[in-house]
Amino acid sequence: MSSIVLFGPPGAGKGTQAARIMEATGLPQVSTGDMLRAAVKANTATGIEAKGYMDAGNLVPDEVIINLIKDRILEDDAVNGVMFDGFPRTIPQAEALSLITTVTHVIAIEVPDEKIVDRICGRYSCSGCGMVYHDTFNPVDSSGCECGNWQEKRRADDNAETVQSRLDTYHQQTSPLADWYMEKGIFHPIDGDRAIDEITGDILIALE
Ligand code: AMP
Repeated sequence: MSSIVLFGPPGAGKGTQAARIMEATGLPQVSTGDMLRAAVKANTATGIEAKGYMDAGNLVPDEVIINLIKDRILEDDAVNGVMFDGFPRTIPQAEALSLITTVTHVIAIEVPDEKIVDRICGRYSCSGCGMVYHDTFNPVDSSGCECGNWQEKRRADDNAETVQSRLDTYHQQTSPLADWYMEKGIFHPIDGDRAIDEITGDILIALE
């Protein structure tokens, strides 16, 4: 089993690109953020533990995350590998991942900090299909989402106060992983401050 990792700060466009990469490669998207939000909604023990960290823009403890991933990759759809989105976020998570699967590509979507706040604060998605939109940069059609099941969803942590601490957390705890993966020769930086299609094109070239 071999897998790819989508890496980058909050609001870089990982979720948007994940949907497109999934279509091109057939690899299922495994987003620890989505898994945690589902756990919070379902009020599971993991969700109850994770909520405070998420609301504050801090990382959920490694042990919780690694256990979630260990269970997730046992599911049938993961047999040929997966595309991780928002995982790993610390060196211990990356070390644990290396024991579970071979990571062949780390796609790092790079966006400067000063662009992140506007990108996150206007963000929403379709709860019918998960497609990500933005008030200014990528608004949904007036007739709704093309999946036909349009329902607008905004994340509780997509607000100006939490964004800054999510960015600080990213720089302190997650960005050291860039060097860690660069040394392994599998790190592919992609300029994420461009049109969505251009970014997808470069990602697919990097994955070839
Ligand atoms: P995301 O949807 O990836 O932006 O994640 C939302 C929140 O979930 C983050 O701000 C963290 O609190 C938590 N989270 C998601 N993935 C991880 C991870 N790999 N490690 C620790 N915390 C995570």
